[in-house]
Amino acid sequence: MSASRALVPGDALRDDQRRGLAALFGDAVRFDEPLAPRTSMRVGGPAAALVNICDVGSLIALLDFCQSQGVVWTILGLGSNVLVHDEGFAGIVIRLGGSFTAIAITGTIMHAGGAAPIAAVCRQAAQYGLRGAEPLVGVPGTVGGAIRMNAGTNVEIGDLVRRVEVVSAGKDVRAVTLPEFSYRSSTLARDAVVCAADLELQRGDPVEVRRELRRRIQERNASQPLELPNSGSIFRNPAGDHAARLIESAGCKGWHCGGAEVSPKHANFIVNRGGATCADVLELIERVRAAVKRDSGIELETEVHVL
Ligand SMILES: Cc1cc2nc3c(=O)[nH]c(=O)nc-3n(C[C@H](O)[C@H](O)[C@H](O)COP(=O)(O)OP(=O)(O)OC[C@H]3O[C@@H](n4cnc5c(N)ncnc54)[C@H](O)[C@@H]3O)c2cc1C
Repeated sequence: MSASRALVPGDALRDDQRRGLAALFGDAVRFDEPLAPRTSMRVGGPAAALVNICDVGSLIALLDFCQSQGVVWTILGLGSNVLVHDEGFAGIVIRLGGSFTAIAITGTIMHAGGAAPIAAVCRQAAQYGLRGAEPLVGVPGTVGGAIRMNAGTNVEIGDLVRRVEVVSAGKDVRAVTLPEFSYRSSTLARDAVVCAADLELQRGDPVEVRRELRRRIQERNASQPLELPNSGSIFRNPAGDHAARLIESAGCKGWHCGGAEVSPKHANFIVNRGGATCADVLELIERVRAAVKRDSGIELETEVHVL
């Protein structure tokens, strides 16, 4: 079962489990692999093991291994919505690559792998003169991560998804599902790995699609602190309001804790100004949450996932 928790003493992969993993997955396994460079906030410690998986058969085998050995695991996309504890992640981090990055288009349906970057989805849609994916441009994640989070802006990926192929722990086949989507969440089972999805787009004018992509990218560049490591929006927007407005009105813009700072450019972004630890970011999150609660009575919920 996928889990998100910090290292617990005695929890680390045993030597025999490390040997078993190495025997099964060879060069695809890296032990004690730093995770900070694999997240957009660039903080946190290592994974006990990171396994690069390129096909469905290997994914099924790895999930079987985790289940039979009782090893905690999680899946990491492009790490644009996760924070890793400074102690690291005690279990196995799965990274999808290879066939999971493929994109194919039939008519107005795009079949995209779970590890296909959203940037590639938008680029290919534009090339084929398909519109509908433009509101996702600038989401720096994968199709799998976006489906888990129902990522988007005025249009969310859930509005486009027609079919999702998953592999779940304990199941030895790929299954087809269609989760329900709501604001920044989906009913995708916690132990399900998105292998691929069908997105329904519409025919459009390639020139118009490209223009809209450029416009949206420029808008993001102007409003988001993209020059520094960050995890996108830290808090979910509460019903009928914006987390950024509440944070600004509570006077938190520019607050910092160690190397972590509430961005002066966009109050719902925390940036790593250099040398931040995960503990810095988490402490700043709690200070901001408390300040907003005092100022407006609203308790902000965290959007970012903590491993
Ligand atoms: C600069 C910036 C701008 C952003 N803008 C937006 C925005 O406009 N809208 C928005 O919604 N988000 C935004 N985000 C947040 C983030 O990009 C999205 O949530 C994105 O969908 C996460 O994808 P990822 O591949 O990076 O997932 P990760 O961050 O690696 O993982 C996120 C979650 O998804 C799970 N996951 C990853 N891959 C899979 C898979 N194949 N199957 C099952 N579960 C999986 C992980 O276990 C984790 O729980 C932004 C982030 C940044 C840094």
